[in-house]
Amino acid sequence: MADSFHWADITADKIIREKGGKELYVCASGITPSGTVHIGNFREIISVALTVRALREKGKKVRFLYSWDDYDVFRKVPKNMPQQELLETFLRQPITSVPDVYGLYDSYAQYNEKTLEKLLPIVGVEPEFIYQSVKYRNGDYADQIKRALDNKDEIRRILNEHRTAPLPEDWLPVSVFCEKCRRDTTDVYDYDGEHTLRYRCSSCGADEALDLYRTESAKLPWRIDWPMRWAFEKVDFEPAGKDHHSEGGSFDTAKKIVAVFGGEAPVTFQYDFISIKGRGGKISSSGGDVIGLDDVLEVYTPEVTRYLFAGTRPNTEFAVSFDLDVLKIYEDYESCERLYFTQNPTPKEQSKKAKSDRIYELSQVKEVPSECPYQISIRHLCNLLQIHDGSIDAVLRSLKDLKPSQEARLRQKSECAWNWITKFAPEEFRFSLRSADSPKPAAENGLAAVMSDVRNLVAEKMDNCDEKTFGEAVYASMQEHNVASADFFTLMYQTLIGKDKGPRLINFMYAIGRERLLSLL
Ligand SMILES: [Zn+2]
Repeated sequence: MADSFHWADITADKIIREKGGKELYVCASGITPSGTVHIGNFREIISVALTVRALREKGKKVRFLYSWDDYDVFRKVPKNMPQQELLETFLRQPITSVPDVYGLYDSYAQYNEKTLEKLLPIVGVEPEFIYQSVKYRNGDYADQIKRALDNKDEIRRILNEHRTAPLPEDWLPVSVFCEKCRRDTTDVYDYDGEHTLRYRCSSCGADEALDLYRTESAKLPWRIDWPMRWAFEKVDFEPAGKDHHSEGGSFDTAKKIVAVFGGEAPVTFQYDFISIKGRGGKISSSGGDVIGLDDVLEVYTPEVTRYLFAGTRPNTEFAVSFDLDVLKIYEDYESCERLYFTQNPTPKEQSKKAKSDRIYELSQVKEVPSECPYQISIRHLCNLLQIHDGSIDAVLRSLKDLKPSQEARLRQKSECAWNWITKFAPEEFRFSLRSADSPKPAAENGLAAVMSDVRNLVAEKMDNCDEKTFGEAVYASMQEHNVASADFFTLMYQTLIGKDKGPRLINFMYAIGRERLLSLL
């Protein structure tokens, strides 16, 4: 790879250039599991995953960290959760203390974490997970908390640069969950300069002392926790969303505060928001209007899901579509795939091949397949699935040139296509073949004569000629009997699917096949 065309490679080059030659590079990402991890959050993870892959392909050793900020406070009950009243009693406690209302995991935080952790390997993303609740409660960061307290004036000075209401002189860079009631409604009013903090709790009235090296209850606030971790884990790269990258936002302050912990700011970029298009009022599998990775994987294969992100620069906003654009996305991916496996590209194809090939490589969950996957357009696949009433086995059997090695991917694509048809496709796209015994629409004179010709053509000619020749014979009959093609097409679609319109007729007839057509005509 001489030149870098792709943003992931360009970012990898930048990390190496700015951080120098290192034995090990650390790339990080993370989030508070305070609700369903949605597809916008996934953009951060996949952006890091693609950069990690680019670094590894340059021969670098990389640690890919994903931090669950599950020692954050439970601030708000998400609307899509059941048992709202029970959850409300846990407000202001750490999210690891909140019960899992689905009864599957130890906590609410763990439910959100495991839901995503189970999905990530499907799209080829396998980070090393760090649980902040475990780290804090183990006392792993006790030295770092002490360091923040010992440098409280410097940290306060940095934070005040961006605050309209300055922090008071007695402010301490630490938060404490009350050891009596577990809430963070505490005022930490004293630090003795050694190990001891004193706090008062406004919820339960507790007034207690804590030993930094024995307690599980102290943590750093977000704006200090983030740079602490950069230093602690020696993070070389971490992107962040628009909100963190704004002027005076948490990235701005973190890159100054990190010096307190003896580290430096990582290489970063800003990724943009994602919107959702074409779901109508359909509820996501996680409930509410939160669209998770599982919802996206219902209609997009893992490769096409990666392609959505690998094919778009992180700083551009885009919509994940569930409407007719799904077909367009698949068509773009299919053409990228064909170009990748083209032996003799035209000069025009050659000019875009390098960039397109790199996007194709990065879209793969694992290695690029050694042979071209089975080529079938998503539209045609949707038609075949509907002709076979959704039976993927029947569709696969009907494709005579399908190799066993190509089956798994095609099966996955078929599952997505069928989900799309049944859940999201517009009405004009859907059909089901009529049964052989349903009444045939009436046809007279010329139309009846063409219909009779076509029945004969299907019986005698269809399997012995190509679609083009067959189509010409159908048109010749229409001309002979002076029938307008629009009239005949309507009659055919009414006969086959009970609608006035349908997929391109001749191609559709071949997809249905001779035997079934004869029974319908
Ligand atoms: Zn309390």
